[in-house]
Amino acid sequence: MIELAGVTKAYPGGVTALRDVDLTVEAGELIAIVGPSGSGKSTMLHLIGTLDRPSAGTVRIDGHDVAALSDRQLSALRARRIGFVFQQFHLAPGRDAVANVADGLLYAGVPKKERARRAEAALVKVGLGDRLGHLPHQLSGGERQRVAVARAVAGDPAVLLADEPTGNLDSVAGHGVVELLRELNATGTTVLVITHDHEIAGGLPRQVPMLDGQVV
Ligand code: ADP
Repeated sequence: MIELAGVTKAYPGGVTALRDVDLTVEAGELIAIVGPSGSGKSTMLHLIGTLDRPSAGTVRIDGHDVAALSDRQLSALRARRIGFVFQQFHLAPGRDAVANVADGLLYAGVPKKERARRAEAALVKVGLGDRLGHLPHQLSGGERQRVAVARAVAGDPAVLLADEPTGNLDSVAGHGVVELLRELNATGTTVLVITHDHEIAGGLPRQVPMLDGQVV
């Protein structure tokens, strides 16, 4: 599903965030990416998510060599095949849960009615069937992150990428979100999670430890 070969990422200004990284992820895996701050975890997730391109090496997602795709093809791949969840929930404040999730399907070219239908189904799936009309400020942190997860999976992506999804949550809500990621993985979604939490990482089937821009 994901293959990085000899991937290096240098940012303008001289920081080499990733050095010669190789990583293969099979479809259906559930992986924790761990390592100290600055070790290159987010950079690697951005490259896997096709939000950025490598300086050297090859990134293949779902059989596509990212370097061979135009920006437009890359956006299409991202919209149809990849879901993102971040530490900050990034919900639109004046929009209810259904609207926040439905808006995530805009770029996948889903018609309006179908967007609302799928948004409701995704919210039910993450356990928020009774919060469909709630605005973000009427939801707890854990519930907001569930809305963000629903938005990420409403388009039924093959890959779900989560960058510190529990970083803003207390431990009970955090474990709930991890449990949700497990359930999504059990239904076939490949999941990669960046986490600082050793207990969470240790409970997942595979850990990818990073240090100084390399997988160690
Ligand atoms: P982590 O997610 O493990 O904390 P990052 O991938 O965010 O690590 O960062 C790796 C290194 O790259 C750090 O030294 C960071 O300062 C640098 N870096 C990250 N993003 C950028 C950027 N957009 N421009 C310049 N340097 C960056």
